[in-house]
Formats: sequence, C-alpha cells, structure tokens
Amino acid sequence: MSDLRQRFYIEDSPVRGEVVHLEQALQTILAQRNYAPAVQILLGEMLSATALLASTLKIKGRISLQIQAEGTFKWAMAECNHLGDVRALADYEEDPRFMQGEDSRTVLSSLVKPILFINIEPEFGERYQGIVALDQPTLAGCLMQYYDLSAQIPTRIVLASSAQRSGGLLIQLLPRNNEEEQQRVDEDLWPRLTMLTETLKTEELTDLSAQEILYRLYNEEEVRLPEVEQLQFNCTCSRDKCKNALIQIGLDAVKETLEFQNPIEMDCQFCNKKYQFTAKEALDLFGEHLS
Ligand SMILES: [Zn+2]
Repeated sequence: MSDLRQRFYIEDSPVRGEVVHLEQALQTILAQRNYAPAVQILLGEMLSATALLASTLKIKGRISLQIQAEGTFKWAMAECNHLGDVRALADYEEDPRFMQGEDSRTVLSSLVKPILFINIEPEFGERYQGIVALDQPTLAGCLMQYYDLSAQIPTRIVLASSAQRSGGLLIQLLPRNNEEEQQRVDEDLWPRLTMLTETLKTEELTDLSAQEILYRLYNEEEVRLPEVEQLQFNCTCSRDKCKNALIQIGLDAVKETLEFQNPIEMDCQFCNKKYQFTAKEALDLFGEHLS
C-alpha cells in the first residue's frame, strides 16, 4: 500500500468510483518546502483530489487544481497527469492559523477573495478552465458542488490527509443510456451508497488500503475492481522549458539578469532541480553573441 489509485464498479449499476492513496509521493512533495501543518494537509487533499479527478478524464494530459487568494495565503496548486505523475506547490506568508489543522477547513476559512480553478490541459487540443466556488467549508464540499452544478453528475467525494499520507474517494452516478434506462434499477442504491460513503472516517481514508476501505463501506454490494494504477511524484520541468521561459521574459531582461547573475540559475519550485545558463548559452537563445 503506497501510492495508487483503485477504480471500482458496483456490478450491474451505473455507479463507478475511485479510491486514491498517496504516501511516498506526498512525503517527497512536502519535504521540498517547510510547509506549516495546515498547508501540508491542504496540499495532501488537493493531491488526492487531482488524482481522483484525473481518473475521470478520457484524454492524455493533465488536470490541476489551483487556489488563488489575497491575504496571507497566496496560492496552492496540485496536478496529476494520465501517467499518474503528481506534483504540488503552495505559497503563503507565516500565519499562526496555519500552525495546526485537521483538514482543508483551516486554510480555506482563512482565504481572502479566493478562487479555485480546475484546469484541464490535454496534450493535444484545447485547454479547459473551470471556476469552482469556494463557498463550502471543505475542498471536497466545493468539488462536489461543482460536479452537481456544472457536470450534473451526482458525485460524492471524501478527502483526508495527514503529513504522512493522504487519501480520497470519489463515487459517481453516471448517466445511463436508453437501453440501460429500460433495465430494472435499484432506486435505493445511490442514496444507500452515499450514506455509506459519508460514514468514512479521516483515519480510515489515510490509513486503510483501498481494498479495506471498499470492503468496509460496500461489502453488501457486488464491487468489481480492475487493476490498480500507480501514482508517483514526477516533475515535468526540463531544460527546454527553462529556455522557453528565458525567451518569454525577453532579451533585455536576460541581459539585465546576467549583470548580477552569471550564469543565470533557474530553480524548479516543484522539485528543487537547478538549471544553469551561461551568458553564452542565454544569449544564443536570441541569436545574440557575447560582445
Ligand atoms: Zn521540477
């Protein structure tokens, strides 16, 4: 049991779901910065949430959750791609309120003028950005409301995190096609599953394996489990992306930087990897030569 995502289906029903569990990846991400406890928990929940949401995509690419706010908490983001690579980052000013917390409530309640974006970036094709109202006490609550209102797919999401492990569960009642509509359905199934899902405790979500969680909740149902998918921390930074960033800031800014920093050093905030560009390498990007 470490970093994985387990899909599940309730047999002969339009209900599907996912359970995610992050341990190694979460610890690697949290070790890169000295995050306050409540921020660690928020990042853990955001990571689990993106891993859950990524499973609902049918494209190659990545999905990210991004919180932006004014006040002491500036922003946080977490992303997951179709390969199960996750990464996350947050920026905030010291605030005694962040020194303890049990769930995303602590940070969310501190936010000033917050916005939560869901970004979907396919490898090929158009990007999509959705705006989620941050008017529920927890991250899971905000995301559920988003699904209910914009996707109109009844969805339950539970998220939990500690500094060591984070976990999440998503269950959805998918729309049925005409043929399926004809079949006899268990009208009580969705309310029953929803109620069971809500009995899941924080410690169970972070400490039990996906199979144990599913058994604990739905052992009265016929649950089908396809093969588990691995999740891992993996940063998508590269020297080429740094080159593009330099080209974007422009020749003048690059020359200015070289006056006080030569070689130019660029740090990836997600993984702390350093990329260096000598004056020659940096100017070559613009077809300029050292004078
Ligand atoms: Zn990186």
